[in-house]
Amino acid sequence: IYLTRIEEAEKRDHRKIAKALDLFHMQEEAPGMVFWHERGWRIYQALTQYMSELWRNHGYREIRTPQLVDRSLWEKSGHWQNFHADMFVTESEKKLFAVKPMNCPCHIQVFNQGIKSYRDLPYRLAEFGSCHRNEASGALHGLMRVRSFVQDDAHIFCTEEQIQSEAIAFIDLLHKVYEDFGFKEVIYKLATRPKERIGSDEVWDRAEGALSEALNARNLPWSEKPGEGAFYGPKIEFTLKDSIGRFWQCGTIQVDFSMPGRLGAEYVAKDNSKQVPVMLHRAIFGSLERFIGILIEEHSGCFPLWLAPVQAVLINITDAQAEYVTKAAEFLKNQGLRVELDLRNEKVGFKIRDHTLQRVPYLLVAGDREAGSNTLAVRTLTGKDLGTISLENLAEKLAGEVVSYGRTVLTV
Ligand code: ZN
Repeated sequence: IYLTRIEEAEKRDHRKIAKALDLFHMQEEAPGMVFWHERGWRIYQALTQYMSELWRNHGYREIRTPQLVDRSLWEKSGHWQNFHADMFVTESEKKLFAVKPMNCPCHIQVFNQGIKSYRDLPYRLAEFGSCHRNEASGALHGLMRVRSFVQDDAHIFCTEEQIQSEAIAFIDLLHKVYEDFGFKEVIYKLATRPKERIGSDEVWDRAEGALSEALNARNLPWSEKPGEGAFYGPKIEFTLKDSIGRFWQCGTIQVDFSMPGRLGAEYVAKDNSKQVPVMLHRAIFGSLERFIGILIEEHSGCFPLWLAPVQAVLINITDAQAEYVTKAAEFLKNQGLRVELDLRNEKVGFKIRDHTLQRVPYLLVAGDREAGSNTLAVRTLTGKDLGTISLENLAEKLAGEVVSYGRTVLTV
């Protein structure tokens, strides 16, 4: 079983598939950083648009924070002392700036603008946070291990009593996302208090209790990683199982009792006293780069329609249908579909093979009969002939497949 899994993994290697499908490239001059090509960027944008909408619908405020931040902030947050070797540093006007390795300190700066009251909590800030970490060049591996990446990063400022309900809401959101992307199995681990830590045992008891109760509230089987929590709080790790049985830790929710206080975050409590909020660090994709790498391998490049960089190609049989397919492609594009046109003077079979190699989900062919009846003959990537369908009906059904995240597929 092990050998076949290695072979299967090699066949699915995202670097090979990306090259064949023209998704992105990397080169020596920018180690561990991605040059996204048009088709790869479409997948990337499908992910960010999806997540942005989810944030909007679940009470997050989407923000954007700077890439370069003065050393003094990283000293306050503790990153300068503890994370220095992994940070890229640059200089301007005799001041040192670090390229941010994480977004949390910047989110606290946004929270700190204006007075917050207990009524403002939970206060959820989300960002497609672009981070750089100076990983050893020998450790880099395609999209799976990079130096420059973007996280679907959010920080929830809340009270201790709100940790559990926020963790439950987060778990529900994470399940929706993984299901929409076609992953069926998730493994849950609760990392608890390490030897070196801040905060009293009572506070840790309550935080670990809140996270474990959140998992129990959804009847999820979880195991403990004793002592594996961060010095500043416990966390849940969410690991995906892919279709060939490999495990990928992507999601996390982490309680933090330390950083908000270090960086001066506070809110006015009911009794008018000033209190320091708890901060929850959470991500679902983890790094978008790595998540796309996982998706490429999970689907072997045959993406569900909503993620496919090219959703359909229109093909004419002879020049006589060139004008018709051009108009039809225009129509489908206007319906928000990512379609391309192949008017090359080649045999239909040749064109179909070509786009099949490019893993285009639907091949839409027009001869005289289709051009005369405002229809298209539909073929799937797997070679199934679905018959002919009217242009309007097709647009509607493809749109339906997209919004179902591939749960319903086209029937004619
Ligand atoms: Zn964070």
